[in-house]
Order: sequence, then C-alpha cells, then structure tokens
Amino acid sequence: MENKKIIVAGLGHGGISAAALLAAEGFDVTVYEMKKEGTLGYDWTDIFAPKALEIAGIPMPPEDKFEYKEDMTFFAPTCKKGLRQHVPQEQLEIKMERRDIYEHLINHALSKGVKIEYECEVLGPIMLGSRVAGIRTAKGDIYGDLIIDACGMNSPVRSNLPEYLGIEKDAGRDDKISIFRAFYNKASEEDVEAKFRVMLFAGGKKGICWVASEEEYTDLLIGRFDDSLNEDLEEFTDYIRSFNPRLGTEIVRGGQFVEIPVRQPLSVMVSDGYAAIGDSAFMTVPLIGSGIANALKASRMLADAVIADKNMEFTGKTLWKYQTEYYKKIGAGLAPLACGRRVLLTLTPDEIDYCFSSGMITESDITMGADFDNMSKLIDGDAKDLVNKIKNLCKDPELLKKLLPCAAQIGKVVATCALMPKKYNKDRVLAWAKVYNYSFK
Ligand SMILES: Cc1cc2nc3c(=O)[nH]c(=O)nc-3n(C[C@H](O)[C@H](O)[C@H](O)COP(=O)(O)OP(=O)(O)OC[C@H]3O[C@@H](n4cnc5c(N)ncnc54)[C@H](O)[C@@H]3O)c2cc1C
Repeated sequence: MENKKIIVAGLGHGGISAAALLAAEGFDVTVYEMKKEGTLGYDWTDIFAPKALEIAGIPMPPEDKFEYKEDMTFFAPTCKKGLRQHVPQEQLEIKMERRDIYEHLINHALSKGVKIEYECEVLGPIMLGSRVAGIRTAKGDIYGDLIIDACGMNSPVRSNLPEYLGIEKDAGRDDKISIFRAFYNKASEEDVEAKFRVMLFAGGKKGICWVASEEEYTDLLIGRFDDSLNEDLEEFTDYIRSFNPRLGTEIVRGGQFVEIPVRQPLSVMVSDGYAAIGDSAFMTVPLIGSGIANALKASRMLADAVIADKNMEFTGKTLWKYQTEYYKKIGAGLAPLACGRRVLLTLTPDEIDYCFSSGMITESDITMGADFDNMSKLIDGDAKDLVNKIKNLCKDPELLKKLLPCAAQIGKVVATCALMPKKYNKDRVLAWAKVYNYSFK
C-alpha cells in the first residue's frame, strides 16, 4: 500500500480525517494546503456533534478545549414567540475554537503518518484520458493514484473537471448563504431571555441569524440568502441590539464576510481517480450550513471504500460505495431539506410567524431538528400532531398553496434518492444525476 500515493487537495476537515484513516492503513498520503502552517480556520468557535469524531476514529479533544452547547431558542420574525430545544444530554453538540478543531485533526493525522505540504496552492486537476491522475499546483504538477478533493465549496479541482464526468462544477447564488460573523464586546450585565437565540427572517430580511450571549462577549452571526448584507449591516445590528442590550458595538473577534453552501449534496461525488468530500461535495446542512460533522463521518465512508478496493483501482466503480453509503446515512436526509430551504424563501415573515404561533412548528420539531442527519424524524411525528399541523395549515389558504407543491417536491427528491443506482454504471449514474439535479429546479 505504501506504493499507492493518495493526494488530498486542500486541508478540509473531511480530507484530513480520511487522510489519517488511510495513512493508518499504510497508504502514502500527502495533503496540499494553500495556507501557511498554523493559520487555518477562523477566529471563532464552531459547533458540531462529537459522535462524528468517534466515527472518524479520532479521539475526543482534551476537556479544556471544548464545552457543551446551550440549547437554542428559535424565534419567528416578530421575535415574540420563542421555541426552545430540549436536546438530550447524549445528543448535545460541542462548541470549540475552529483553530483548536484544526489542531486536533492535524495532530491526529500527523500521528498516523500523513504528510502535509503548506503554502502549496492547488490550481486544478491533471487528466490522463478520463482519469483524474493528479493535481496542478503553483509548485508544479503532482501525480497520484487517488485524488481526494477537500478544497471546499469553490474547489479548483472540481470546477476544472471535464464536463463529460458529469460532476457539477460550481454552486450557484441560490446554493449559498452569505454570512457575517463577529464577537462583540459585552455592553451590559443585563440578563437576556434566551442565551442562544436563532431568528428566522429577523427584521423581515430573508435569512437566518443567531445571537449567543456568552460570559465575555456576544457571538453574532447574520446569514442572508441574498446580497443585502453589505447594505444594511450596521442598521441590522442596531435592530438586534434593540432587544439584546448585551450586544456591544466593538468587534473583539472575527468580523468577516464568508459564504457557506446550503444546497443538496453533490449528485456525483466520485470518478476514476477522484472523490470529493466536505464542502467540495456540498455536505453541509442546507438550512444552517453546518458541515464539520458530516465531513468527518464521510471520511470513514470514503476510507472504507478505498480500503475495500483490494485491486487498488480507485475508479468510479470502486469508489461508488462511498457515495451510496453517504446518501444512505446522511445525504438522503439532507436533500429534502434543500427543498425546504427553497420553499422557506418564498414565505413571507407573516407566514413564518403563523407557522410558529399556530403550533405548526413545535418545540419538539425544533429539538428533533437538532439532529439534522435525518429529516424523516421531522416528518414522522405522531399522527395526532400531524393532523393538528394539517388543520392549522388549511386555515391559511395562501400558505397551503405554497406548501403543497413543496410536499410534492420533497416526495420527488426522497424517491429520487432511493432510486440512486446501487451499482456503478457510468451511463446510469449520469442519467440518475440529471434527474436528481432537475428535481431541485
Ligand atoms: C462562518 C461559518 C460558520 C460555520 N459554523 C459551523 C458550525 O458551527 N458547525 C459546523 O459544523 N460547520 C460550520 N461551518 C461550515 C464548516 O466550516 C464546513 O462545512 C466544514 O469546514 C467542512 O468544509 P471543508 O473542511 O470541506 O472545507 P473548508 O472549510 O472550505 O476547507 C477547505 C480547505 O482547503 C483549502 N483550500 C481551498 N482552496 C485551495 C487551493 N486552491 N489550494 C490548496 N488549498 C486550498 C482551504 O485553505 C481550507 O483549508 C461554518 C462555516 C462558516 C463559513
């Protein structure tokens, strides 16, 4: 195995975790990352499910490096009614500095024999016939037996693959959420009603934002599905201050504008010599953009498919098991959420208010939604609860008109995911991908 060379393009979370699993099996694995050593990540904390670490074979970080996340309280646009999660202890997510997450993953990978080359920008793939055979980098061409694409949403590897591989190149505007995130100084000792407040369409703006009141600072994240963030950032933060007096005016950490993919997972994640993981394969949760846990879990599925390929061909056919496993365990639950997000954008703030106040969305839905792996939990519910939801929906004919096609579309997406070819046949896979992609249009 040591003569089989695996290239990981970009030090994404899924890529470095897959690298560790494969190096532990004896593969020669090198990660090529454009940033300088010690500069990865953002100046803020992230939240993810720790069970993902266990799945990826990574130990828990030291106890002083993380804390358990507060339950979130979700608010409708008027901010009057809040629905609080009640996440059971064993499902609690952890909150950790992004830089510490990276350090933990990198140290683990290095201990397994992974090599990392920093300050090496990847420019695109190298093709030999129809096989991805290497990467072009600013430091020269590098060839390998398998290229794992962990370069994130705008991966130059994925974007420059030839059309005939059938792998979508770019995320469209509708597929991303624009984010501003900063930690502000604490302006007051006043107690706030909900410590971790998540708001949908706050101030009538099409987006989602959170305000988490911490001991030392207030963590503000503003996400918009359009390009309005630059225009009204100050006005909007003032609006948030109007009901959260702890939110100061001085940015103490962060303060960056970034984008996150919020769409269905990539329809074709593998090809001969190639596998995409993490944000490169759009593995984030479509509404809120969390992607760390999914990338970590996917690393195990990818490594298992690679290790199971006894002839070490690393073709679309042998890597297909990775994609089908990912969809079975995670992707098929996320894809319907992508439809849900699109419908959400057609709703008015009043309609979202109605969903909260009429009981169509309940604290139990919000709690179940904390485990975004599987949307079926949200749909199942108990029969009485479902009847009540439908009754309330029927009272608002406009809303009913909007949500009925959504239900049909979700049904179509669920059915399409179930019809994904079990075995790899390029023509059948490409035909399936066409139908899958079309079902989100
Ligand atoms: C503001 C914000 C908040 C978030 N909060 C959370 C959260 O709380 N919980 C959660 O689960 N997720 C969160 N996410 C999402 C999460 O960051 C991603 O889903 C997750 O990191 C998986 O992405 P990735 O590691 O595959 O890609 P990325 O994080 O994009 O990493 C890609 C890596 O590849 C490198 N790279 C890119 N291009 C090149 C190139 N050309 N050559 C070489 N290297 C390259 C980059 O430098 C980077 O190191 C958040 C994202 C943002 C932006």
